[in-house]
Amino acid sequence: AFEGLTEKISSAFKGLRSKGRLTEADVKDAMREIRMALLEADVNFKVAKDFIKAVTEKATDAEILDSLSPAQQVIKIVNEELIALLGGQTTRLTIAPNPPTIVMMVGLQGAGKTTNCAKLAGLLRKQQQRRPLLVACDVYRPAAIDQLKVVGRQLDITVFDEGQGDPVEIAKHGIDHAKRNGYDLVFLDTAGRLHIDEKLMDELKNIKAAVTPTEIILVVDAMTGQDAVTVSQTFDQALGINGVLMSKMDGDARGGAALSVKAVTGKPIKFIGTGEKLGDIEPFHPDRMASRILGMGDVLTLIEKAQQTFDQKQAAETAKKMASGKLTLTDFLGQLQQMKSMGSMEEMLGMLPGVDAKALAGAKIDEKQMAHTEAIIQSMTPKERDNPSIINFSRKKRIAAGCGLSVEAVNKLLKQFEAMQKMTRQLTSMARGGKGKKKRR
Ligand code: GDP
Ligand code: MG
Repeated sequence: AFEGLTEKISSAFKGLRSKGRLTEADVKDAMREIRMALLEADVNFKVAKDFIKAVTEKATDAEILDSLSPAQQVIKIVNEELIALLGGQTTRLTIAPNPPTIVMMVGLQGAGKTTNCAKLAGLLRKQQQRRPLLVACDVYRPAAIDQLKVVGRQLDITVFDEGQGDPVEIAKHGIDHAKRNGYDLVFLDTAGRLHIDEKLMDELKNIKAAVTPTEIILVVDAMTGQDAVTVSQTFDQALGINGVLMSKMDGDARGGAALSVKAVTGKPIKFIGTGEKLGDIEPFHPDRMASRILGMGDVLTLIEKAQQTFDQKQAAETAKKMASGKLTLTDFLGQLQQMKSMGSMEEMLGMLPGVDAKALAGAKIDEKQMAHTEAIIQSMTPKERDNPSIINFSRKKRIAAGCGLSVEAVNKLLKQFEAMQKMTRQLTSMARGGKGKKKRR
């Protein structure tokens, strides 16, 4: 969601780096650029202003300007302030001392409450070995209850429902059910409306009063930009929230909401939703997000994602091959298939430092392309698969004819393979000593 912002900040940094010494005016020019970039990314006006003020004050300090590498110092300050803006520390979900932990999910209609009840339950079951229960408190449309059951079934998580009864009673009964049956984590999927109104808030207040939830998590849609911030403020004032789950961060939102919520409401973002699939959820780490925004890559999240998805044994084999530089096109095909389950390759590679996202624009994986890739690789001889560098033009023509695709398609695949090799080399060196290139150039 931050491509535009990252690009513009990188360009401002580049300007700073190109100068040996920095004057106060140089820093101020760069900060003006960054301020524009923040506003274009839909960051709240006052938040952007305060951010730039804080950075400028620190970065124009004589000690910084006279230091050996002033540009690096300024970038470091931007990074630190950005982390602070995003909330500083990672804020985890509070776990009740006496189970069950009760999480009440609230938000407007369509924000992502129902899906994210299931996503969060799945995440915490995996990360903390919890036993979650989902409770259907959105009783106004039978479809809402069904939807919760569907996502629950997909993840094999139990759903408690009493049809279209009284949401307050259902919440209480759901929690009793959890206590009696050893569920230690209860998610209340509540109703939303298109707009905030008194009736919605009253219902949520009644549920809150009846069950005293451990946490109230507000789900907001990142795509709604500044509205997400306003909604957060309103819910917090009316109901009191503990944190925010920002959904749809995978969309083409400009990301400003994520940068503004903490500063405006004082409440941290705890999780982000990053896609439609039920595995597409991440704890929100301000430091990692800052690195991503500043174009320094988010290697930790990438590695965690890979660890969650890769089949351990196959991963070990692939790692061995990668380390020896013997990655073949057959391995590549296998990796592509795994990548697909991890999210688009573009997204994966975008988290790596030093990888130019634009060069990878064609690297998105879709079903059709996957079929093509498979066909092309299968038209190669084993020798070619093991050693793609021998594939000259006449071989390309033969391969293209064999799979019924164009020479261009063959070329494109070989380019992707190169990009993948580059990525695996980087990953390998990072995995080895954590000494991979941490920063761009
Ligand atoms: P609710 O009305 O608040 O319960 O919202 P739902 O859980 O029904 O979600 C509304 C729509 O948003 C559904 O189509 C979800 O699949 C979609 N959605 C939720 N979270 C995300 C996300 O992180 N990324 C994307 N792309 N879609 C999401
Ligand atoms: Mg819902």
